[in-house]
Amino acid sequence: MGLFSSSRRTFLGAATVLAGATRALAAGARPTGGNAVEAGPNIYERLGVRTRINAKGTFTYLTGSLIFPEVSRAMEEAAQHYVYLEELQQKAGEKIAQLLGVEAAMVTSGAAAAIMLGTAACLTGMDPKKVSQLPDLTGLKSEVLIQKSHRNSFDHAIRNAGVRLLEVESRDDLENAFSEKTAMMYFLNAAQHKGQISLEEWVEAGKKHGVVTFNDAAADVPPVEHLSEYTRMGFDLVAFSGGKGLRGPQCAGLMLGRKDLIDAALLNNNPHEDAIGRPCKVGKEEIAGMLAAVERYLQIDHDAEWRDWERRLDAMAAVLTSIPGVTTGRFVPDVANHVPHLYVHWDEQKLGISREQCGKELQDGEPSIEVLVNQYPQGLAVTPFMMKPEEDQIVAGRIKAILTSAKAAG
Ligand SMILES: *Cc1c(COP(=O)(O)O)cnc(C)c1O
Repeated sequence: MGLFSSSRRTFLGAATVLAGATRALAAGARPTGGNAVEAGPNIYERLGVRTRINAKGTFTYLTGSLIFPEVSRAMEEAAQHYVYLEELQQKAGEKIAQLLGVEAAMVTSGAAAAIMLGTAACLTGMDPKKVSQLPDLTGLKSEVLIQKSHRNSFDHAIRNAGVRLLEVESRDDLENAFSEKTAMMYFLNAAQHKGQISLEEWVEAGKKHGVVTFNDAAADVPPVEHLSEYTRMGFDLVAFSGGKGLRGPQCAGLMLGRKDLIDAALLNNNPHEDAIGRPCKVGKEEIAGMLAAVERYLQIDHDAEWRDWERRLDAMAAVLTSIPGVTTGRFVPDVANHVPHLYVHWDEQKLGISREQCGKELQDGEPSIEVLVNQYPQGLAVTPFMMKPEEDQIVAGRIKAILTSAKAAG
């Protein structure tokens, strides 16, 4: 392809952008703003980045969730003024804590940052010398307890603080694992039915030994009650992602819990420069956006939202079960992504297409659709959790077209 044709494309691209902007202004659209009327090529079209329909759930690689309009408005508003970042962190944290009925709260750059900052808080307390020392642990505690079945790729964030993880399995293991080196006890909420030690037992052991308990509940709203349930249960710190079910900014999260620990975590965080949390910067826009997301999330009629998800699954099931040889069923994952899902099952031999092939065709087709291919044993699965309105019909129609043409070809 020659230079001429590529510059011609650029020229045509610019012309289309201009035409789009003119149309948008003529139609009275605001020229900026995430949820403003869209006209002309959007940012992704201009960059040549494909947009995808999300029938899968909250996944960071797929950019999490779509923020509420209230969130983008709050972010835009926050972007127009200077404030002292620490004062904003304090006031927004207090407001979020009050809304959720927890002792203290802070906005982090995500649940992973909350995990690292919570660990750091346990190591340093309010001592600035220790804050600048991390991740060198000379003279500090150095171990975090974790159930073997709760090990996950995000526990790297604990190790970022310099500590090592000590794995336990039984209650006895746990009793024997405590020492003067123990800094914290990490619990993975989504694995609460996997390990031998329950949520309550974890908290009880922490209280008995005077060690901070941390619950990583990153993907665990809905239900909304989870936001205050675990601190009430006695966990000292609890983390949630801002960019998953809460539909706040993707690079934001919440850490909730004891005031002394939140204060110590803030000391380990941006804007303090000689601190382990300096790379986890949260800007005024994310702080304001996270607060708006919490406010919005608490106002939602969660029962009505659930009924709407069910209705959309009904509509999809009706389309899919019209294909001979295809069956569907419902399930709701127990803890994380606790929302209605639909699985689609077929005989791969008879229809001449595997789940993987169908998933690949959905990804590669137009529009591109992301579904759950091998996460659940029952079949290929979809959820309306992160879909936009009307997308359920597009997704069901595409799956039907792929399965039907595979059968015709076979
Ligand atoms: C998504 C996730 C994280 C990381 O959350 P971010 O908000 O993306 O930093 C941590 N732990 C678990 C269990 C998660 O699902």
